[in-house]
Amino acid sequence: MTVFLDVAVVHIQSWLTRAPHLRGRRGASRMIREATMSKAVDTLLTDFTSVVRRNAAYGDIDGVIAVELLRDDAVDDVERYVVRYLRERLPAAPLRSTHWEGRDSLDAHAADEPVVTRDWPAPVSEWPVSKPCDWCRSWPASRTVWVGAGDDSEQQQLCEDCRRRHQHAGYTTSKIAKLQPGAEHDLLKHWGDRNSGLRLPETFEELALLGKENDNTHLATIHADGNAVGRLNKQLRDLQQKDTATTFDLPAAIEHATWSALLAAIKTMSADVDETMPIIAHLVGGDDVLVSVPAHEAWWFTRTLQTTFQKILADELSDAGLAGLPVPTVSAAVVFHHRSSPLSAAVDLAGELLSHAKEQHRGKRASLAWQDITHDGPHPLHHQVPDQRQAPTLDMLFDAWAGLDSLAELGASARANLALLASDNDLERLKSHAERLGLWGLVQRFLGGPIVLKDALGMVRWWRTV
Ligand SMILES: [Zn+2]
Repeated sequence: MTVFLDVAVVHIQSWLTRAPHLRGRRGASRMIREATMSKAVDTLLTDFTSVVRRNAAYGDIDGVIAVELLRDDAVDDVERYVVRYLRERLPAAPLRSTHWEGRDSLDAHAADEPVVTRDWPAPVSEWPVSKPCDWCRSWPASRTVWVGAGDDSEQQQLCEDCRRRHQHAGYTTSKIAKLQPGAEHDLLKHWGDRNSGLRLPETFEELALLGKENDNTHLATIHADGNAVGRLNKQLRDLQQKDTATTFDLPAAIEHATWSALLAAIKTMSADVDETMPIIAHLVGGDDVLVSVPAHEAWWFTRTLQTTFQKILADELSDAGLAGLPVPTVSAAVVFHHRSSPLSAAVDLAGELLSHAKEQHRGKRASLAWQDITHDGPHPLHHQVPDQRQAPTLDMLFDAWAGLDSLAELGASARANLALLASDNDLERLKSHAERLGLWGLVQRFLGGPIVLKDALGMVRWWRTV
């Protein structure tokens, strides 16, 4: 039996948006990458090569350092060493370490639970604090830095975590060669336009303006995450134990499917991708995607991401002669918000909606939760509360798509009237109103669910009609 140790940032999305603006998030994405990329881990372990090595089979995932112990008795020392290293580079990130045992990494990680789990919460600032940090407002400021360029620059007092974010943030207007590692650097690299001068939006204002519809004030922040990856991992392990020769590399296949899905989703956007790609990528790692796009692009974008991920993985499994195995899917949460509302609120809400959607469908199907902060408020609508919104599965969305297209083509006032009648629950009035306008056939499609009329009308507020 070999011991495997993983040390990971927990609640990575929340830590990324601890400083509420984009610059703080960008710096954090790059800090995480620099601290956990394989090259950094190899350097970290240089002096301990007789005791531990990087677990190359785990895949290269932002925010996780995975190692394989060569001497079991060294695991606690190695754990403390790795935690200390991460704590120094990501001062405010909560960490969790897990020990696994097995013949190899796949076997070890197929267990339901790790052998040991330890939490290493971020230090809490002492009370009373001195002046709080200008960015996160939760830790004491410890350093004064100049933020911004030229005449716009101003002095700000930042804590250690935010100072590092500032230092790592850079500007996306810099060409790829100068962009520091991070999700956005990867995105341009995967796109394959190394020398075309393609860039990413610098701010949310700029991103919103890239939307092709009349409303250029709203964005959608989308969080997607795989379902049943662990189940597939287990079945692959079982096959290997039965001596069925399979060398299927699951982490690599997931990584490939995630990036292919993301690129396909970007290609379906109506906005041009010639000079500035209409997307801001916060996190792409393993089966996890967290991005912001112009609001009207969200529905097509997300459905393409979900269908492509599933298809690519199905193809890879079938190419490897494993067509009978369960194909992981992706569930997603879409949060619509004004371009000036804090990213941290959208990201936290997306995280909650995503876990509701997974719970509602028990992670068995691709599903899609959504909420509009401007119209529904910032508190998550919960599927367990009667009459609150349900997260449709991807299949339900497909079935309703043509009807949603038709609803989107109605004028705004026609939709507002329908929404009023729908929330009154007075079917007779709704029917006579809809019949008068020749819309009864369309309205009927949404009466029995699974996507009810009220929700359908909310969805098409940000529907793409071009
Ligand atoms: Zn701070």
